[in-house]
Amino acid sequence: MTFESLGLHASIIKALTESGYTAPTGVQAQAIPAAIEGRDMMVSSQTGSGKTAAFMLPALHKFASEGDQPQTGRTPNQEAQSARSRGDRPRFKPAQPKMLVLTPTRELALQVTTSTDKYGAFMKRVKAVSILGGMPYPKQMQLLAKNPEILVATPGRLIDHMESGKIDFSQLQILVLDEADRMLDMGFIDDIEKIVAATPEGRQTMLFSATLDGMVGNMAKRITKDALIIQIASSATKHENIKQCIHFVDDLSHKNRMLDHLLRDETLDQAVVFTATKRDADTIADRLNIAGFAAAALHGDMHQGARNRTLDGLRRGQIRVLVATDVAARGIDVPGITHVVNYDLPKFPEDYVHRIGRTGRAGRNGIAVSLVNHAESMNVKRIERFIKQLIPVEVIEGYEPKRSASTSRPNHKPGGWKPGDNRNSKPGQRTFSKPNAPRKDGSSFNKGPRTGDAGATRRPFGER
Ligand code: ADP
Ligand code: MG
Repeated sequence: MTFESLGLHASIIKALTESGYTAPTGVQAQAIPAAIEGRDMMVSSQTGSGKTAAFMLPALHKFASEGDQPQTGRTPNQEAQSARSRGDRPRFKPAQPKMLVLTPTRELALQVTTSTDKYGAFMKRVKAVSILGGMPYPKQMQLLAKNPEILVATPGRLIDHMESGKIDFSQLQILVLDEADRMLDMGFIDDIEKIVAATPEGRQTMLFSATLDGMVGNMAKRITKDALIIQIASSATKHENIKQCIHFVDDLSHKNRMLDHLLRDETLDQAVVFTATKRDADTIADRLNIAGFAAAALHGDMHQGARNRTLDGLRRGQIRVLVATDVAARGIDVPGITHVVNYDLPKFPEDYVHRIGRTGRAGRNGIAVSLVNHAESMNVKRIERFIKQLIPVEVIEGYEPKRSASTSRPNHKPGGWKPGDNRNSKPGQRTFSKPNAPRKDGSSFNKGPRTGDAGATRRPFGER
């Protein structure tokens, strides 16, 4: 399968070649032809599987093909310009985007815009801008005044501009909801409904989500028409290029010692450490800096400028350890991230999947370690049920927990994993692994009764 065979415009193929993309990913191969036909779709596929291009390439293709036609009509800006030249008082014309991409976070929005610039590098007349909370209004007004074809926005700020008449969706052709499940988690449902209601009935709608279960599936059905459902890989995706494991810890000081040890792994290039709270992210980043790691925190309380600087530092390799909360870490795509450490377990099982997806980007290998308190065994179980995989428990020499793992997980011994299976282990790695015995009953994890856990996937483990 090639990008040419998907029928994409020559200028897009050129950009993809320059970006080093040789073949479409699975989700791209399925979504692009249908999207070019104009179909609505609901897509769930693993993080890092190339969803951005799956919706952006067909959209750009459409605009490029329109661009090949002789242009009729004038853009609001051309009109505004000629109004000025006629000596009329310039009036602000609302932006009339052709495409809107809604994303849960600012980082993800910026990433989508950057990818769009890359994919559209050889196209004339296509401009994508991000409209984000935390960005100064005058700057946003300037961006909107350019009447961009593509708006990438977080819901809250977009609503502000809609309400003040700065955006007119009457020309909108394509609506994309990226990471829709996360937008709902973040409480954007009313904003989304409002935005959708302001767009034309005849639009094309594409929704992307980690899961199509529950609330997000219901919303997807409401806002799409005759949607093609693409489920490349469910939550069961094995993440085979990511080596996952659990280390049991007795207490906070054990956890901190373990973290320091893990971060000194010589195979580590860059790491993301996930914490449950913003305050912990700050505290741990400070502590790691004092300990000599180039660490920085990233969380939702930081200003946009500070967040961007941190992400730049991470991309440029100046920051080796990013200590982040779930919200802030969404969408981080830095190939140098070799390790993910769950200092705290995530609140939702699906966040576990997003977290570990920060490593092993673009086909590389990665390591994802969870530091787990004995009292959290149930939470581990829920994650394992969600990913339909057992996460092996490992013990590091000199860092053994006082309580053995098997007393913490009496009925829950991971099987099927041997040290030799560890595709990432390198000779001389200092950690040694002691996988638990295989399940005695020989049963597979999947055979057990699925006690309605699909519903439970939206349930937090409890506030911390
Ligand atoms: P998702 O949204 O599914 O998590 P992204 O769209 O962020 O995934 O893409 C993940 C990474 O894969 C990005 O670095 C992107 O540039 C890269 N990528 C996407 N499609 C391809 C492709 N066809 N070939 C090579 N790399 C790709
Ligand atoms: Mg994405």
